[in-house]
Amino acid sequence: MDNLATTKISQPMTTQDYMDLEDRWGAHNYKPIPVVLNRGEGVWLWDVEGKKYLDMMSAYSAVSHGHSNPRIVAAMIEQVNKLAMCSRAYHNDVMPRFLEKVCQMTGMDMMLPMNTGAEAVETAIKAVRRWGYRVKGIPEHQAEIIVTSQNFHGRTIGIISFSSEPDYKSGFGPFLPGFKAVPFGDADALEKAITPNTCAVITEPIQGEAGIIVPPTGWLAKVRDLCVKNNVMLVVDEVQSGLGRTGKILACDHENVSPDAVILGKALGGGLFPVSGVAGKRHLMGVFDPGSHGSTFGGNPLGAAIALKALELLESDHMCERSVEMGAYLMQELRSIDSPMIKAVRGIGLWIGLDIDPKIASARQVCEKLAKLGVLSKETHETVVRLAPPLVITREELDWGLQKIRQVLTQS
Ligand SMILES: *Cc1c(COP(=O)(O)O)cnc(C)c1O
Repeated sequence: MDNLATTKISQPMTTQDYMDLEDRWGAHNYKPIPVVLNRGEGVWLWDVEGKKYLDMMSAYSAVSHGHSNPRIVAAMIEQVNKLAMCSRAYHNDVMPRFLEKVCQMTGMDMMLPMNTGAEAVETAIKAVRRWGYRVKGIPEHQAEIIVTSQNFHGRTIGIISFSSEPDYKSGFGPFLPGFKAVPFGDADALEKAITPNTCAVITEPIQGEAGIIVPPTGWLAKVRDLCVKNNVMLVVDEVQSGLGRTGKILACDHENVSPDAVILGKALGGGLFPVSGVAGKRHLMGVFDPGSHGSTFGGNPLGAAIALKALELLESDHMCERSVEMGAYLMQELRSIDSPMIKAVRGIGLWIGLDIDPKIASARQVCEKLAKLGVLSKETHETVVRLAPPLVITREELDWGLQKIRQVLTQS
């Protein structure tokens, strides 16, 4: 079994050497596209052989500002030379400004900072359960949370407990009780699922990992109304959809919905650092008191300085407008490709899913061919190729990618 791969010291390592080394020493919980990257700048990436790629994946939308965005890097270096980490045992002078900025941009009152998306989702689950018991008066241990099927909210035991994806769950039980799934986009099913013990609805506004699934217009607004009518918290997971990806700061802004809390992550870290959190209304976030929740790294000054700069650039560089404009162009050009491989092109802003006809090719095969031509994407499930370039991409850069995409989709 052991192929004895070790770091080579006396000769340069090739793509295959690095892949063998990773295969030998790393757990096999991913199946990456076979490229080994070692440099990034803006929308471009380079591999260890010096080959250049257009990034149309943005690390699952974490790199909306482009790779090593120089202004975020400058803010990072300035902060790392002052104070990088101090823990919440003390106050620091960056975190409060970061929290204020997030709340002002999202219309929320209070924010609890964490590091990864999954941690922020767990934080939201704790918030709504405690709200359910202490404010709504649900009997102890009876709180129910309604989620949507085909959701993706992360990988912790708590979160996979309400996943509908067998791969995410197999062999990891027993799972956390207290969740009910209803079909995404179906407000009637959601209404029927509400009981006096329902404390919250937690959903993505547009499902990302499921394949960039946009719900029917008006669905989220209806869910909002149902939650208000039934005294249920609405928590929207905007870890992937948020911060300009869909052309608005939050995807729920498209429906003028202001939820009780939003979960943020990915692009909040400016493509440099894991920064996440839950921003919510005071009636919900007020349930936390000292000792009830925390994170050693959450709210650290380095992450806070990076996120603050990332949020400022979102506004000053008009990244939402860019997402709308470049997204419309990308969508129009993709829809003009005449290929039997494409079953559907859907999405919003710079967040597009290409449905590939499985009778002709798998999404994986398309992504591997694209990579050979210098365009990096990643399949989600067997049939969807996702295209989510950094929001700073230009028309010329998109044209470069589109030419390769056309080539792959029209060659037989
Ligand atoms: C990626 C993602 C998460 C999890 O974020 P991690 O940082 O990987 O833990 C949660 N929710 C959504 C919608 C995501 O896309």
